[in-house]
Amino acid sequence: MLFKDIVGQQHVKQRLIQTVKDNRIAHAQLFLGPEGSGNLALAIAYAQYINCANPTDSDSCGICPSCSKYQKLIHPDLHFVFPVATTKSITKEPVSDDFIKQWRALLLDNPYFNLLQWYECIDVENKQGIISKNESQEIIRKLNLKTFEADYKVVIIWMPERMNGVAANKLLKMLEEPPEKTLFLMITENTGMMLQTILSRTQLIKIQKIDSDNLLVYLKEHHNYPEQQLRDAVHLADGNFVKALQVLKSDEDNSFNLDRFVSLMRLCWTKDVLGLMQWCDSMIGIGRERQKNFMGYTLRMIRENFIMNCQVPELALLTEKESDFSSKFFPYINESNVYLMVEEINKAQYHIEANGSDKLIFLDMSLKLIKMIKK
Ligand SMILES: [Zn+2]
Repeated sequence: MLFKDIVGQQHVKQRLIQTVKDNRIAHAQLFLGPEGSGNLALAIAYAQYINCANPTDSDSCGICPSCSKYQKLIHPDLHFVFPVATTKSITKEPVSDDFIKQWRALLLDNPYFNLLQWYECIDVENKQGIISKNESQEIIRKLNLKTFEADYKVVIIWMPERMNGVAANKLLKMLEEPPEKTLFLMITENTGMMLQTILSRTQLIKIQKIDSDNLLVYLKEHHNYPEQQLRDAVHLADGNFVKALQVLKSDEDNSFNLDRFVSLMRLCWTKDVLGLMQWCDSMIGIGRERQKNFMGYTLRMIRENFIMNCQVPELALLTEKESDFSSKFFPYINESNVYLMVEEINKAQYHIEANGSDKLIFLDMSLKLIKMIKK
């Protein structure tokens, strides 16, 4: 991770670089910053900079042997600790290393993510991840190994507030008697749940939310959306890069869903069975998540259009594009079909979630909708 790849945060970057130049690198540091500020990315870039063989005034070289391993997050002296939970395949006392492949892939794809996105990535369903006592034993074991090749062994602990009591106390011991040339970089959004004794042994690096101008510049350079859409996303994100990406993604999903919904309704109204079969084909292969998302969207549109039909259009929550379509479409959703349609779509949604055959589910649903929409 290079500093230049991190959005904004010029001030913190300079401050971190200065600690290396002045040779006063604290052995335990706490990167405290709100979601989407880039606190994790900054910690990794800092660790890479410390171990870089040819750093410049403003960044790591990116090509020395240490950097090339850091760039892939596979440096043998770089260790990650993060909350984990049991999954379908890992059922007993999981530790971070059990999930290191997913962790690297997620980070390399985009180092801005929140806890929920991490849990989704490792598929722990609704469980809360923790950093367990086994994990602290793992850290001790790794730190007792001799340093492979770097100046510093680095342990990056993401969300240390998710440590259980035993793990936190073991960590405290390590912070009190730190092994030589070892750095603990902890990354959190909230110190409220951390042990005071740990906090008092770390140097605080406070990270602000990203400056909106920097965020906009970055998005313009890296994302191909119309300027106004990017400005809106920056406005809504309020310095949170995770949120900015979510807003852009949901715009994208929304326009995809609206487009698919409009064609589904048209094809049903015109009883175009061949067209419906092609429509079903277009829904296969978009992935379960987007299919589920579409079903939720369809239910919402049916509901909102029915509300319009009930003569209370001001209660309908629609975007401008959705309103355009619905202003002509709403008479078709009425008392004689709304419940049947909702029931049918609910049923399809249930089967999609249960991993049924998507092609059959969509086809079955559309053929039934043909009858209902004419009522
Ligand atoms: Zn380097």
